[in-house]
Amino acid sequence: MTQTAIAVAEARHRRDQSWVFFNGEYCRYHEARVGLLTHGLNYGTGCFEGIRAYWNAERHQLNALRLPEHFERMHGNAKVLQMRLPYSIAELCGVTVELLRRNECREDTYVRPLLFKSAEEIGFRLHDIEDSFAIITAPLGDYVPHAGIRCMVSTWRRIDDTMAPPRTKCTGIYINSALAKSEAIQAGFDEAILLTGGGHVCEGTGENIFIVRRGEVLTPPPSDNILEGITRDGIIHLFREEMGLDVVERSIDRTELYVADEVFMCGTAAAVAPVVEIDRRTIGDGEPGPLTLRVQDLYNAIITGGDPKYAEWLQPVW
Ligand code: PMP
Repeated sequence: MTQTAIAVAEARHRRDQSWVFFNGEYCRYHEARVGLLTHGLNYGTGCFEGIRAYWNAERHQLNALRLPEHFERMHGNAKVLQMRLPYSIAELCGVTVELLRRNECREDTYVRPLLFKSAEEIGFRLHDIEDSFAIITAPLGDYVPHAGIRCMVSTWRRIDDTMAPPRTKCTGIYINSALAKSEAIQAGFDEAILLTGGGHVCEGTGENIFIVRRGEVLTPPPSDNILEGITRDGIIHLFREEMGLDVVERSIDRTELYVADEVFMCGTAAAVAPVVEIDRRTIGDGEPGPLTLRVQDLYNAIITGGDPKYAEWLQPVW
């Protein structure tokens, strides 16, 4: 076996042995099974969350980031998708901490709550079918390169709220992101930027987007079919409260991206990711811009537990 094959086998073994929470009980990952006819698998009738917990090696502490906000969003998603999430936000936070402890997580970790229609029957609908709920944890390092990413505007458009709800993390909807992401990667870029059906800038495949132009910070509004990101919310707060800059939520045209002084994306997985090139046009001078770097620094200090003022964003695990 090659070194890579050994590493893959070890990671798989570790995943299979990890503790998960499934339908009210703690069990091993490999014991939690679903059948082939499972509704959520066939029709994309599920919703998920993506949460990060950051390891602080100096303090030997794992901090889960904005847990209540993620579970609050999931409760809202469940309502839109006619699903039942039978736990309070406090209970869900408690289960997450318990899982991270059981799995002895002492590295950057991703937490994946998943709620899905679990009936094994033919025919799609949302009402009157049982749901299953799981939480899984997995190690996760950097999701995108932090030094600056190269993007293309996707030929795929972001789904519209009149077609399926973009403000939910509905599993089926992620075909939209997957199509755009593969197109971008296979064309040699790092990430895609999706436009709305009407042609306005929407977001990345798993990140919200901000631009800076002539000292003004802009980001698309929720009515432009974005996912209302928890990181986006935090970044708007940091601009306003820590940097004394307002953030204007308004529709953005494609070519405003090209003439922007700075562009960055943000999300739980990506954190703050400077964009240095879009559609082969250099953004600013081709380096991450000063406001991007400043807000990235503030954000990184907070998530690693280095800023006591924002301790409430973090849930210590140990
Ligand atoms: N947009 C999409 C489509 C996403 O999947 C994500 C990741 N959840 C985001 C934006 C960023 O959201 P958050 O900051 O809550 O992770």
